[in-house]
Amino acid sequence: MSEAPDLDLLRDALSTSVLSHALKMIGDRWTMQILMGAFTGVKRFDDFQQRLGIPRRTLSDRLKALVHMDLMRPRLYQERPERFAYHLTHKGMAIYEATLMTWEWELRFGEHRLALPSRLVHRTCGHAFVPQMSCEACGETVTIRDLDMSLKPNPRLPYDPAERMRTPKVTVSDGAMSHLALRMDRWTLMIVSAAVLGCRHFDQIAHVLRISPPLLSRRLAAMVDAGLLTVESDREDGRRRVYLLTAASRGLFPYIVLLSTWASEHLFHEPSSIRPRHKACGKAFVPRATCGHCHERLNAWDVSFQMGEPA
Ligand SMILES: [Zn+2]
Ligand SMILES: [Zn+2]
Repeated sequence: MSEAPDLDLLRDALSTSVLSHALKMIGDRWTMQILMGAFTGVKRFDDFQQRLGIPRRTLSDRLKALVHMDLMRPRLYQERPERFAYHLTHKGMAIYEATLMTWEWELRFGEHRLALPSRLVHRTCGHAFVPQMSCEACGETVTIRDLDMSLKPNPRLPYDPAERMRTPKVTVSDGAMSHLALRMDRWTLMIVSAAVLGCRHFDQIAHVLRISPPLLSRRLAAMVDAGLLTVESDREDGRRRVYLLTAASRGLFPYIVLLSTWASEHLFHEPSSIRPRHKACGKAFVPRATCGHCHERLNAWDVSFQMGEPA
């Protein structure tokens, strides 16, 4: 992106993006943890509750929402008293590639306090692996720097002016767990996206995300505290400050792109308003999660895992 992004275009593209709309539906830490749990074989309500330490009421609400979105399907496994197990649907299974990226992120940058698998094995090639993000067209491994972006706002996914009212509070008072809440949070991922697209100043981010200044200030401070941003004074104008991505927040990018692709293909059946292109092959970039060993695309059923003890 150029030094001075077109802020109105960026605002329209971000607010009509499949990412923004998907994060409104699943952009909270509990939903993502439930999905991670499901991919490691958890099915029963009580097992989710125990493994994730999630309040029963919250778990029940999130599972209901996942069923409503057709990501999970309940199955009665005991009649008296009634007990349900939750199975991933085809649509739910398809979010696996994005979820794998959060596993990889936790391994590199996380506090290692989550009950996540310590090792993944790709059954197809028989090797332990780290997932990578690759270009579907040419198969090469891709990072942020290998892409350029064009923007095309999508009027079929319009901005909802009421959304401002529904922003959940995130604080940093309870250590690692709230850092998790913070990085899975919708605003955090949207701020990272805005930064990737060239926004560096407070007023730019506030404009493109239509976020109120007090809320943005709290969110940026929490992100700086969690190591997701650094703040410096602007070299050209010492009175202004710039917010810069860190290795940890750049590391969220594969998750963001794979989640967008999933939302585009399985949730909305609409193209993303943010359109990356793979500079090396010149094709529209469609990300896939691939095995770091054999480079084949990863499917949930081809991966086995070993659970580690949370530290
Ligand atoms: Zn390519
Ligand atoms: Zn493999």
